[in-house]
Amino acid sequence: VWRYVNQFAAFNHFVNRPRVRYGNRIFSFPINLLTLHQLWGVTTPAEAEARLASVREFHPDPQNLEQWILSQVGREIYETFIKGYTTKQWGRDPSLLPAAIIKRLPIRLTYDDNYYSDRYQGVPIGGYTKMVSNILEDIPVELQTDFLDDREYFGNLADKIIFTGPIDRYFEYSEGVLEYRSLRFERFTYEGDYQGNALVNYADVEVPYTRITEHKHFEFNQQPFSVLTREFPNPWTPDRPPYYPVNDDRNNRIYREYRALAAQEPRVVFGGRLGSYRYYDMHHVIGAALSLAKNLVSGSR
Ligand code: UDP
Repeated sequence: VWRYVNQFAAFNHFVNRPRVRYGNRIFSFPINLLTLHQLWGVTTPAEAEARLASVREFHPDPQNLEQWILSQVGREIYETFIKGYTTKQWGRDPSLLPAAIIKRLPIRLTYDDNYYSDRYQGVPIGGYTKMVSNILEDIPVELQTDFLDDREYFGNLADKIIFTGPIDRYFEYSEGVLEYRSLRFERFTYEGDYQGNALVNYADVEVPYTRITEHKHFEFNQQPFSVLTREFPNPWTPDRPPYYPVNDDRNNRIYREYRALAAQEPRVVFGGRLGSYRYYDMHHVIGAALSLAKNLVSGSR
């Protein structure tokens, strides 16, 4: 994936180290030894482990996000970092959400605060827009055009169609509506450095947004002027962008019905976050697209 994207952009050395704001305090995040120091005053991995062992709740077979986190780090950390943020983000209590949503976040007993454990990390120099336009060079693109407004015409333009819109919409919701979460972005500007970091998460449930992104920190604070984005979770309605699939049992069951329908349409291949109804990270979606393309070219799909 790294080799593929580097054909289209040069990447800088940005590494995501978000901070969490809870009340008036700022914490290191994802949960690591510095976070536990800030919270409890522990200074070594052994002290941290002893403290965690005393607060972990016993859930031998965690059934949801809340139980899973309680079994890993106990109630205080759950209530400080996870409960408010997750309730805002997903619009429901964490006891009603699958643990998979949060298992991607590391919990470390070292001072490593890198959000990811991946070997290759960075942001395209000059931004993603430039990278995407390089990928699309010489490829005809029609904007403001809905494939589903004229399936007949677009469906006959090629032997194979790759559809990356919502799979339930493609099948006219015949098996039911898949749930998503949406977001509303509010942009504001600031003269100077507003928050000293690319991302600050707001964990309090009373603060209506989940995070503020200060974009200039993706390129290391080189501009005096700052553009920022507040991110407000939003219920999804058909006129709003479907950002996050809600992969609970009910929705996954509906999705499997759509997969069965998709299998009966060999000319159309479904992919991407919406076509696969999966909470994919960017590198996962690129990896999946590359292997799909390989299979299509070799004729095995
Ligand atoms: N999360 C949390 N507190 C935080 C950050 C994340 O509880 O400060 C939980 C929350 O449930 C969220 C999930 O972890 O939906 C994944 O968050 P992340 O920011 O990594 O995902 P993104 O929204 O960027 O896809």
